[in-house]
Formats: sequence, C-alpha cells, structure tokens
Amino acid sequence: MLSIAVIGGGAAGMTAALAAASRGAAVSVYERQTRVGRKLAVTGNGRCNLTNLHASPEHYHGEEPDFVLPALRRMDAAGTLERFRSLGLLTVTEPDGRVYPLSNTAGSVVDVLRFALEGAGVRVLTGAEVRLVQKEKNGFRVLSDIGSHPADRVVVACGGLAGERFGGTGLGYRLLKELGHSCTPLRQGLVQLRSSSPFCRSLKGVRADALARVFHGSELLAEAAGEVQFTDYGLSGPVIFELSRAALSVPGTRVSLDLVRELPEEELRDLLLARSRGTPFLPLEDVFVGTVQNRLGHVLVRSAGLDLKKTLSALTGAEAVRLAQEAKHFSFPVTGDMGMPNAQVTVGGIRTSEFDPETLESRLCTGLYACGEVLDVDGDCGGYNLQWAWSSGFLAGSSAAEGNHA
Ligand SMILES: Cc1cc2nc3c(=O)[nH]c(=O)nc-3n(C[C@H](O)[C@H](O)[C@H](O)COP(=O)(O)OP(=O)(O)OC[C@H]3O[C@@H](n4cnc5c(N)ncnc54)[C@H](O)[C@@H]3O)c2cc1C
Repeated sequence: MLSIAVIGGGAAGMTAALAAASRGAAVSVYERQTRVGRKLAVTGNGRCNLTNLHASPEHYHGEEPDFVLPALRRMDAAGTLERFRSLGLLTVTEPDGRVYPLSNTAGSVVDVLRFALEGAGVRVLTGAEVRLVQKEKNGFRVLSDIGSHPADRVVVACGGLAGERFGGTGLGYRLLKELGHSCTPLRQGLVQLRSSSPFCRSLKGVRADALARVFHGSELLAEAAGEVQFTDYGLSGPVIFELSRAALSVPGTRVSLDLVRELPEEELRDLLLARSRGTPFLPLEDVFVGTVQNRLGHVLVRSAGLDLKKTLSALTGAEAVRLAQEAKHFSFPVTGDMGMPNAQVTVGGIRTSEFDPETLESRLCTGLYACGEVLDVDGDCGGYNLQWAWSSGFLAGSSAAEGNHA
C-alpha cells in the first residue's frame, strides 16, 4: 500500500490526508502542535468563514495568480460545501457569498474533519514536528520529534508565517528549500492598520458600519463597505483587512471613512441643522445622537474643531457643513500595520513555477507535493484563503495517491 506523509494538520493538510486516504493510501499526518486545526478553530473571529461562492483567480495573488485555477476547478466552493455536507457540516451563505457553519462555530469545522480523519483510518500524529524530509532512492524519510519514518510520497502543508499564536511558522519554507525549492519575499497580508490619528485612543473599542476608501494623495486606490473596528493603535475589522493590501502598497496613504453612507453630505447637514432647530437647548455633544455611536459622535465634533459643551442654538450653517464633512470623510493617516503575528495570511511563499498546477507535484523532486499557504498564493479577505487550502489540499492529496511514479 502506498504510504503518504502529510506534514501539517491544518486546513490544507487535513483535506489532503482525507483525499489520499479515500484513494486507498496509508496516510500519516504529522502535526507539531498538540491538536490538529488550531488555526482553523480561530478563523473568522471564531465563526470560520470557510469559503466564498465567488472564489476565482481574480481573488488570488502571487507571482502566478492563475496557478490556482486547476485546483479550484477540481474542487470549487460548491464542491467544497458538498464535501462538508457529506461530513455532516451544514452551512449558511451570506449575501456577499461568504459561507459560515450553521453552528456559527469554527470548532465544528475542525471537529467534522477530525471525525472524518479517524473514520478514514488516517494516523494523526500530534506533537510531531517534522525537522527534515530526506529524498531517498525509493521515496522519502521523514525525521520528526517522534522518530524517523519512511514514506513513498510527501505532502507539505505547513502553512505560512501569519498568525504565530495559532501555529504560523516558517518551517514549511525551510523543509521545501532543503529539497531544492525557492521562496519569494514574505510579508504580512490581511492585517490591521496603524494610524497617527489623534483620535484612536478615544475611539478604542467602538465599531461602526462605514464605506472605507484608501487614498494616496487624491488618488482613490480601493474602497469597501462593512464593519470597521477602532483600536488604540488604529483600525481593524473585516473592511480594514480587505483594504490593507492597497493601504500598504505605497507609503503615505490614508483611510477615509464615510460613517453615514446612507445620506449624501447635504442631507446629513440638513439633519444636523434640523436637530439644532428642534432642540436648541442640547449641547453639541448630542448632535450626532441617532446617527452614529455616541462616543464616535463626540470625536467627530472634536475633530471638526468644535466645542462639545456649546449649545445647538449657536450652531452655524458653516459649522453644520463641517460636521457633515467630518462624518462623511473621517480621515486616518496610515503609518504601518500590526505585523505578521497579527496578520491573517502570508503574502509570498514557495515559488509556484516550481510546481505543476495540475497535480501540485514538485517539478524539482518527484513524489513531493505542496498545498495551502506555504505556496506563493494569498487570497482576498472573505473565505478565499481557506478555499485555497481546501482546493489545493484536495488536489495535492488526490494526486499524491493517484500519481504513478517510482
Ligand atoms: C486569526 C486568523 C483568522 C483567519 N480567518 C480566516 C477566515 O475566516 N477565512 C479564510 O478563508 N481564511 C482565514 N484565515 C487564513 C487561513 O486560516 C489560512 O490561510 C489557512 O489556515 C491556511 O491553511 P494551511 O493548512 O495552509 O495552514 P495552517 O492552517 O496554518 O496549518 C498548517 C499546520 O502545519 C503545522 N506545521 C507547520 N510546520 C510543521 C512541521 N514542521 N511539522 C509538523 N507540523 C507543522 C502547523 O502547526 C499548522 O497546524 C485566518 C487566519 C488567521 C491567522
């Protein structure tokens, strides 16, 4: 029986192991942490955004974005959901195509995969960090914390550097480099942004729905709408992750937030003036009540250079315009990001030109396969990175079990 060693028990590795086992191979998964799927269990803020129905090459980046195509064809988002359903996982799809488990818990995704590995007879070896993979005359030798074992084929699914607390390491790059592969420069992707805005501290913990735009000077680089989270260092939240690539593409960008995207600026100005006429006795700190969150409203008044204690009866037309402008174009100069340990994905990785996209087998070392984040593929925010892990894991695992070489 063909023996396959899968190195890494994350999303890609577990999928590869299941695909290989279902084709009759004897599969061992080596996982350095004490349990499989640790990172998967914290994805999507604990909800796991497991895929996106719009997954296609335009949502992926790397030296060769089309590299993802054969893997996505072999198992697309719909195919992935079918497979999960067959494992007993029900899902819900949001209007923007993001898919979550019906249980709303990332742990359910890990659990159904764990059960499936057990059901398929896959040997799951935890606390087993692989230190070296040696190419031998007939196959490989895998040297790990638990000893030295032979394998006919090896699938490297070690993930990337992002999310260090949940298992992000550079070990996969090292193992593959030792087998002759090369790596593109690595940096963090889908990451929180630091800002020099003086208002970050006062807004810490506030969340808002906004249309966020990234500008470089007057040039609009990107925009997206959804939840923004204010933090003491700057900005976070799904929309910020999505825009981080554009915001960090050149120095000196800024994020401009439209916090009242339902209303044009003039209508917002009229709304504020109507409040000043209806309740002239209120202080200016109440002018945005009912429009944005109170703490955010106070900061907008301060940012417009107005006094919170002044009464609304004294609000001039020009001041109302200034307030409306602040709410529609609340600006955060970008000064950096929160670094690889806090990022969701690694930009860069092992060169895809060194792998056959149809099988994910190495072009440099027969019988060696790679999948998931360790390769130079990173996806947009919204379930695309996990879809790459599922699709590439499935392709690598099936090819390793099907491939016909000595
Ligand atoms: C906080 C956070 C939230 C995220 N949320 C989402 C989301 O909602 N949707 C989405 O699409 N993507 C999300 N991502 C990205 C997504 O989780 C990753 O792209 C995906 O998990 C990559 O899968 P992988 O199997 O390649 O790597 P991983 O999931 O990182 O798995 C690799 C595994 O290999 C093990 N390993 C590494 N080296 C060795 C070795 N030498 N020996 C043995 N084992 C080893 C690691 O311990 C790890 O368990 C998120 C990432 C983070 C950090």
